[in-house]
Amino acid sequence: MTDLPSLRQERRLITSIPGPRSLELMARKREAVADAVANTWPVFAARAGGGIIEDVDGNHLIDLGSGLGVTVVGNAAQAVVQRLTAQASRFTHTAFSVTPYEGYVKVAEALAELTPGDHAKKSVLFNSGAEAVENAVKIARVHTGRRAVVVFDHAYHGRTNLTMALTAKTMPFKQGFGPFAPEIYRVPVAYPYRWPTGPDNCAREAAEQAIDQITKQVGADNVAAIVIEPLLGEGGFIEPAAGFLPTIRQFAADNGIVFVADEIQSGFCRTGQWFACEDEGIVPDLIVTAKGIAGGLPLAAVTGRAEIMDSVHAGGLGGTYGGNPVACAAALGAIATMKELDLTAKARKIETVLKSRLALLAEKFDIIGDIRGRGAMIAIELVRDRTTKEPNPEATAAVARACHQAGVLVLTTGTYSNVIRFLPPLVIGEDLVREGLDVLENSFAQAV
Ligand SMILES: *Cc1c(COP(=O)(O)O)cnc(C)c1O
Repeated sequence: MTDLPSLRQERRLITSIPGPRSLELMARKREAVADAVANTWPVFAARAGGGIIEDVDGNHLIDLGSGLGVTVVGNAAQAVVQRLTAQASRFTHTAFSVTPYEGYVKVAEALAELTPGDHAKKSVLFNSGAEAVENAVKIARVHTGRRAVVVFDHAYHGRTNLTMALTAKTMPFKQGFGPFAPEIYRVPVAYPYRWPTGPDNCAREAAEQAIDQITKQVGADNVAAIVIEPLLGEGGFIEPAAGFLPTIRQFAADNGIVFVADEIQSGFCRTGQWFACEDEGIVPDLIVTAKGIAGGLPLAAVTGRAEIMDSVHAGGLGGTYGGNPVACAAALGAIATMKELDLTAKARKIETVLKSRLALLAEKFDIIGDIRGRGAMIAIELVRDRTTKEPNPEATAAVARACHQAGVLVLTTGTYSNVIRFLPPLVIGEDLVREGLDVLENSFAQAV
């Protein structure tokens, strides 16, 4: 069994969306919650599980967003709920750096087993993805004695000061929030759809340009870390052209640079592997995980080569809540569920369902310029015209809005705000994915 057996796995609309209870709560939210916290969808949740979110008006909505890619195992997986409930009734907190507990150690052991590479590995746990990325940079700096960090076009690494500097897109993530941390250098990524000389040359030329900029403008021996998402998330589900990642990885190895894979969105079965970098046989020095790791509880990790992790002085890494025992119990339940339900295979099945249907849609609607991604991390990029590839954020917003009104939660993303991303929970029923795609097709017909 996956989760909430009582929550019927079907789309059901009994009010307009948003319904009256959601509208009431929205009015209270506007009074009490800062406006900067915007909502994709003004619909309040009552229960959620499998591929369904039940709202406070009793509508059943199809979830193709999994709470920003978090609920890989669903929103209330039994193994997660049981373990975290049992842990919460024993103790909710001691601070691992004051009084340690076994759950933290077990999560670190699981990460050593699951992440790529058979070298000795160690982990440190945090509360959020951004916090973990920052700590990966701290570790790389101490290990190398260097300062510079290289990141890529279209990257997203979080919203804290250092990770805003690592993130590419200004609006809404960085606008007005500077000054940003220094010693961050951005270089090209192999984005096949938009590479000026076409997708075939993309991997080689992008890698050449990136390496040229690093060596000429930064100096390879000033670089502590290269940080990259093996499949870019907020930037628009960009899959770097095949060959790009291995070239950059090798460059890092040749120059004593710590290669950091940010697998916060792409990790934990999402792309049809435990981690997306496995598809090109990449073994990162450090891998950063969060989102899918703990079935919705806040938890993040940096896992890496023992000798790199251990270059930091005792007491140098930590935080009050990092590796909270309830979150660790949830992570162990989530990981057990991923194994038991073979969710890597499930992700690959979802890819087949999504991509075959999206290909048919692209025959009908020529504003679909590109279909890409892997596993249950699939996107379409919308353009005004397939020749110019001019981004079409208006149509993107209109299609998403039509989906929402029909009870299907899709998310938009991308540097040009012209990408619709499909990021369902991996435990979603295939029938719900198909129905979501029916709704998507109607939404295209309506909106364009
Ligand atoms: C979401 C995300 C982050 C930031 O994680 P938070 O938990 O929101 O701080 C960093 N990197 C990637 C690739 C992400 O998708």
